[in-house]
Amino acid sequence: GDPANTFGIEESLKELAQLADTAGLTIVGSTYQKLSTPNARSYIGSGKVSEIKSAIHALDVETVIFDDELSAGQLRNLEKAFGEKVRVCDRTALILDIFNQRAATHEASLQVALAQMEYQLPRLTKMWSHLERQAGGQVKGMGEKQIEVDKRILRTQIGVLKKELESVRKHRKQYRTRRTAVPVPVVSLVGYTNAGKSTLLNQLTGAGVLAEDKLFATLDPTTRRVQMKNGNEFLLTDTVGFIQKLPTTLVAAFRATLEEISESSLMVHVVDISHPLAEQQIDAVDKVLSELDVSSIPKLMVWNKVDKAADPLKTKLEAAKRQDVVCISALTGDGLQDFCDAVQDKLKDSMVWVEALIP
Ligand code: GDP
Repeated sequence: GDPANTFGIEESLKELAQLADTAGLTIVGSTYQKLSTPNARSYIGSGKVSEIKSAIHALDVETVIFDDELSAGQLRNLEKAFGEKVRVCDRTALILDIFNQRAATHEASLQVALAQMEYQLPRLTKMWSHLERQAGGQVKGMGEKQIEVDKRILRTQIGVLKKELESVRKHRKQYRTRRTAVPVPVVSLVGYTNAGKSTLLNQLTGAGVLAEDKLFATLDPTTRRVQMKNGNEFLLTDTVGFIQKLPTTLVAAFRATLEEISESSLMVHVVDISHPLAEQQIDAVDKVLSELDVSSIPKLMVWNKVDKAADPLKTKLEAAKRQDVVCISALTGDGLQDFCDAVQDKLKDSMVWVEALIP
């Protein structure tokens, strides 16, 4: 890692752990090493490789994730060192996995598939070097030829995907109008990873209700139905979270996964108000949102984790002074009724907008 970076190693590793958790992995431990330059062969030094190898055996580890992008050679050498059963991946591959799980629209799926292929292209060596080893090195030439063939196929596929993306973008407006013909308003949650979006989602909805509900059973796992006391209901959907350290190669895919917001009636920006960088995080989210095609969608801001704030009462008073800000604790349930009331209020305006689009 880069020690001059304001976003330090420990924070970066913490974020990596959160991402792994989002991807459904269980974290058993983390470690780092300070080197003036990364090791060209294995990213970390050989001593560190041995240390991790021992930990893999002791803790029965299945996956080792590196916080920086690994080269094809580093990836291969680490896999060799750790053994066949262990999957080695880097931050970029992990984020791509999450985007892939979360891509809800056709455009987002295409954009993520494109990013995945572009990531694979320079790393297309593993399978064939494995073959070479099996054959005792005799098919070396053949392996190299095969890599070239594979790369050509992948490049062609990338070209096809890019064309399809262009066409989908052109017709985006059409798709959207058709999709909006759902009589239930959709509320999207946006915000940083770890802001408490899924905690809020789970607090507001009984997970058990979903199973018997045929109409909504096909919804993706990040969407839930919320029924309010007055009988009104809305769909609450979680979007892929913002992160501090997003590889630049993934920016387009990230934005595409957020495009689904443009199909919702209301966006709720969830902020971890107890976070020391809360203000910067709000600005970063607003900046990305302003670059998406979502300016016509009403917005509500939620200051979450007020229970953890330095001065909860002061924070609540501050929120009360502002328009379109609700202070809650998704964990303790504090302020959830206020939140539902605020959503209801906002939806009253936006429902007009939704109905106007239904043919
Ligand atoms: P997401 O990444 O935005 O979906 O965030 P999560 O819902 O997974 O929450 C991240 C962490 O923050 C979890 O450990 C939650 O238990 C915790 N958390 C969420 N809401 C609150 C809250 O209101 N107060 C406190 N103290 N912790 C919270």
